[in-house]
Amino acid sequence: MLKPLEPPVPVSEPALAGNELEYVTRSLKEGWLSGQGPFVEQFESETAQRLNRRFGIAVNSGSTALEIALAALGIAPGDEVIVPTFTIISCASAVVRCGATPVFVDADPHTWNMSITDLDRHITSRTKAIIPTHIYGLPVDMNPVLTLAQESGLSVVEDAAQAFGQDYRDRPCGSMGEISILSFYANKLVTTGEGGMLLTDDEDLAHRCRDLRDLCFGRNERFTHSELGWSARLSSVQAAIGLAQLETSSARLQRKCEIGRAYNSALESLADVQIAPAETDFASNHFWAFGLVMRDRATRDKARDLLREYGVSTRPFFWPLHRQPALEDVAFPTATLPVADRLGDAGFYIPGSPTLSDSTVEAVAARVRHTCESLEDTRG
Ligand SMILES: *Cc1c(COP(=O)(O)O)cnc(C)c1O
Repeated sequence: MLKPLEPPVPVSEPALAGNELEYVTRSLKEGWLSGQGPFVEQFESETAQRLNRRFGIAVNSGSTALEIALAALGIAPGDEVIVPTFTIISCASAVVRCGATPVFVDADPHTWNMSITDLDRHITSRTKAIIPTHIYGLPVDMNPVLTLAQESGLSVVEDAAQAFGQDYRDRPCGSMGEISILSFYANKLVTTGEGGMLLTDDEDLAHRCRDLRDLCFGRNERFTHSELGWSARLSSVQAAIGLAQLETSSARLQRKCEIGRAYNSALESLADVQIAPAETDFASNHFWAFGLVMRDRATRDKARDLLREYGVSTRPFFWPLHRQPALEDVAFPTATLPVADRLGDAGFYIPGSPTLSDSTVEAVAARVRHTCESLEDTRG
């Protein structure tokens, strides 16, 4: 008989065991509180360097980074931007806030990332950009995306929020977009609590992103603005946390991989449950989130209820964007996107913090396995 875990195991908790407190204290003692100063600049340059980019522009969230990226690229009313339907709402809201139309693409049934065949089908003469988004630990198959974009003259805004430290073939995620974005939200591999960053190699785009982040203050007459921007700076205190997080990110990534592989071997033989592959021909899974897809919504909901009783927290998968009430009137009309529909209905993920001990991982895996087995379809 498996006992409930006490206290319950959270889906995610931040790991702040490095120099975070020391660097925050230093920032405050040196008088750096706002978005100015050496901590922000150092965080930008170290992050950019880590991901092979020339420029990093720190902002207050990953969602704002997406908005600023599209604005910097001049996305405007009448334009279409291709967005995976299986992702966070931010990818679509950034498009809508430019006055452009998000066009949704279904997920790949095995990796859960944007399907390349479905992407190809959705490019029109109005398409201006694609937002490939790496989801849950595997990257999008980027080479075909980059080729399609080049052939059709489209910008690529790479959403690498969940893929810090991940590689696509031998390139870092975050290095492949004309602009790439990161999030430093509390559940991300590198966190500043709240925060994000734009990354690019193009000096003009970097200047535009910096201006847009900082209200587009005038260069000569500070309070004369020729364009509207955002007040979206990352504070020095947050950047100080980020600098400490960069020092320890490789260890956390390695731990997440170990946890993912342990779950993988405990759960891969389950008959009625789909999990993401540990390897594809272009990447190994870093298991940012360890997901399971059940046979239908009712089974998924039942599994989550049983796991809650076992003290194992879970989260449902993204609800696909083509089914979002908030986007009904502004998105390109889409019928069903069957793979994402299935993922949204039947998927959930389990605890994966790098802070989990081996024994906790083992205990969670045993409870997940037992729960899934008890829900197997026995009708044959
Ligand atoms: C976390 C995340 C973002 C941005 O999130 P913020 O909370 O705004 O920092 C964007 N895209 C993806 C895929 C994410 O997971």
